Amino acid sequence: MIPQADPRAQYLRHKADIDQALAGVLSSGRYILGEQTRAFETEFAGYIGVTHAVGVGSGTEALHLALRACDVGPGDEVITVAHTAVATVAAVELSGATPVLVDVEPETLTLDPNRFEQAVTERTRAVIPVHLYGHPVDMDPLLGVARRRGLRVIEDAAQAHGALYHGRRVGSLGDAGCFSFYPTKNLGAFGDGGAVVTDDTALAERVRLLREYGWAERYVSHVSGYNSRLDELQAAVLRVKLRWLDEANAARARLAALYREGLADRGLTLPIVRQGAQHAHHLYVVRSQERDALRAHLESRGVGSLVHYPVPVHLQPAYRDRLPGSESLPVTELAARQVLSLPMFPELTPSDASRVVETIGEFQRRR
Ligand SMILES: *Cc1c(COP(=O)(O)O)cnc(C)c1O
Repeated sequence: MIPQADPRAQYLRHKADIDQALAGVLSSGRYILGEQTRAFETEFAGYIGVTHAVGVGSGTEALHLALRACDVGPGDEVITVAHTAVATVAAVELSGATPVLVDVEPETLTLDPNRFEQAVTERTRAVIPVHLYGHPVDMDPLLGVARRRGLRVIEDAAQAHGALYHGRRVGSLGDAGCFSFYPTKNLGAFGDGGAVVTDDTALAERVRLLREYGWAERYVSHVSGYNSRLDELQAAVLRVKLRWLDEANAARARLAALYREGLADRGLTLPIVRQGAQHAHHLYVVRSQERDALRAHLESRGVGSLVHYPVPVHLQPAYRDRLPGSESLPVTELAARQVLSLPMFPELTPSDASRVVETIGEFQRRR
């Protein structure tokens, strides 16, 4: 079986370094917010090209704490998309604010900057562009609207570690960038983890307070906070993997090129990369009118695939009929019926990727 993603393959590839890093933490006696987390924060901030990174418990928490650090809360509206991991919308609700949903662009399935402006009200405080699948949102027009309307921009870069927008890393474009280190992400730990990155020193300090009970010094809370910390074992693993991130993303890009060539004229809509963007290829998502049949065929031939995402957030039981903007998301709803994520991870071999291509060709010939 060729899996859609395989985080274990990356462990095996860097096993010696990772085992050594883990053993170092275990014998250090320091397991939460120590030297590894501090070093990772410095290295990750440097990689993204910002002055601060703050390690937190997950990508969801990164979004939640960034919103709170921007003073977003009850009564406020935050604009984002329904075509995303549910975590994006859940984080807005954790802050107490109301998520307002806008549609995505048909070409990239990322937030449509034109729809964004139309959704702004006097209650809007922030926007969360999601760099979905690893493709950067068209940030220039979005930042223009946000600046004009006085809104905070919190990037959801959970799928886009290393992606570039006009030469700058995503996560460094808005007021804050939020990352997840869930095991299958481009930069993945062996458990949960996340980070908020920013050039805003006050915002970074607020996130630092919020992630640990609001403590400025031990046992004295200055704001009412949470427990959302990146642990030392995860930080040590992330430091090893960060050194390989660009190489891993280059391997993803080579696989994407192989798919692009092999899947031309197969009746599928292939992902595009917009001018000025460098895709992180977290997922390779094709669109098919016969998605479910194609998926079943792949499965029967030992090729794994996933659907990101089968049910848009506004149609899920927990959110149905209660989020503003839900009435009019036609691009999102059509995408949910058509998208299919093919196997994509840095250790996927070109010959396995070719087998994926051939298996799709076989499906197409039988139609
Ligand atoms: C993974 C993901 C998140 C949430 O990250 P967790 O670490 O799982 O909490 C948020 N947004 C997007 C787009 C994601 O893919």
